[in-house]
Amino acid sequence: MQTFAFDPVEMPEGTSEFRAEVRAFLRDELGSAPAERRANSWSVFDATFSRKLARRGWIGMTWPKRYGGSERSALERYVLLEELLAAGAPVGAHWIADRQSGPALLRYGTEAQRERYLPAIAQGECFFCIGMSEPNAGSDLASVRTRGVKTGEGWRITGQKVWTTHAQQAHTMIALVRTGDGNDVAPEAPAAPAPRGGASALGRPGGGPKRHEGLTQFLIDMNTPGITVRPIPDLVGDVHFNEVFFDEVLVPHDRLLGQEGQGWQQCTSELSLERSGPERYLSSHALFVELLRAAAAPGGRTSEAMQQLLGCAVAELWTLRQMSLSVAGQLAAGRDPAVEAAIVKDLGNSFEQALPRRAQAVADAGLALEDDAPLARVLALLLQTSPSFSLRGGTREILRGIIARGLGLR
Ligand SMILES: Cc1cc2nc3c(=O)[nH]c(=O)nc-3n(C[C@H](O)[C@H](O)[C@H](O)COP(=O)(O)OP(=O)(O)OC[C@H]3O[C@@H](n4cnc5c(N)ncnc54)[C@H](O)[C@@H]3O)c2cc1C
Repeated sequence: MQTFAFDPVEMPEGTSEFRAEVRAFLRDELGSAPAERRANSWSVFDATFSRKLARRGWIGMTWPKRYGGSERSALERYVLLEELLAAGAPVGAHWIADRQSGPALLRYGTEAQRERYLPAIAQGECFFCIGMSEPNAGSDLASVRTRGVKTGEGWRITGQKVWTTHAQQAHTMIALVRTGDGNDVAPEAPAAPAPRGGASALGRPGGGPKRHEGLTQFLIDMNTPGITVRPIPDLVGDVHFNEVFFDEVLVPHDRLLGQEGQGWQQCTSELSLERSGPERYLSSHALFVELLRAAAAPGGRTSEAMQQLLGCAVAELWTLRQMSLSVAGQLAAGRDPAVEAAIVKDLGNSFEQALPRRAQAVADAGLALEDDAPLARVLALLLQTSPSFSLRGGTREILRGIIARGLGLR
């Protein structure tokens, strides 16, 4: 059986000072933000806040200076991210570009593409969205049917994406598009793990290797004629994801990212970046903070159930943090810890998804929950939003299939 590695990492010198700097900035900026807004953190689109981070060099902070980056280490970036998320900062506007679109451009982009997009991302002037999922292509991403046809003037793209986070505000989408005939090929043997996981990752019939061919990534500016964005309100009425329709959208030849037909491999290489960060276990952190506040309130009594919940949560959080940090360290060392990243996401999502239900159980057992208290508001919000934690970025079942395959168990 193969195994996995979560070697401990050593934080670089100066980390504590940097952490203190970020905390001081966040104290000034977020002083009066209501608790339920803090509970949404990386879902909240706030371009003004992103630009404030940009002015400090905190977007694209690991990228080369010639593209607007600050050439700081991946572990310093990790410190920044965990402080932003722990404080519930509204980081949704630049999150996708900073986490994966920028690195994809650095890896696969032409010099002209890098110069066009990276400095604008680092300045908080260009926001990205991810155009992978379609109505019949979520876990089974190889079923993508949005089609690109090469013409003399550029690529004509027609089709539909769905669940596209912040498509209504983003400037550019990296879209996965079918440009070859792979989808028409009859399924046969098992194929490589899918970016979102995919039926093929689980070895389900339907995942032939050819289906992963003929896919290409494009940089599509969202103001191009022929694009229609239709918001989808979520359970609590927030609008952050969308349907996106493409009707013969003309995309210039020089907006093809990487190589024609290599879209699958390129998406796959983003996996570990998308799955292993602190956003995969801190989505319920605002609730954890409110629970601590309730436990520490003057005159408040802490039940045994509450003590157990807090003690377990601290132990789990600490473990997840060490694992996630380890993946960040491996990425910084140039490795691709795909299995470890999937493990972090699966365990992290399980933790952040369970916390609201565990808190509710404690509340039922006697924690005083006044209707308008921050704790009650955050709990109500997270009970409704937490089901999505194990869907976005690849579902639980799919991740477990990838982990099993990575360990040689299937
Ligand atoms: C908040 C949020 C934001 C998102 N943002 C984006 C975005 O910006 N861009 C984007 O492209 N996508 C985005 N998505 C889409 C997300 O990637 C998909 O929802 C996810 O990959 C699952 O696909 P699906 O919704 O089609 O569900 P399905 O693939 O239909 O899955 C439904 C259920 O069946 C299970 N299942 C599927 N196949 C198998 C199998 N072979 N074996 C066992 N179980 C299986 C799944 O685990 C799941 O429980 C977002 C989703 C959410 C919830």
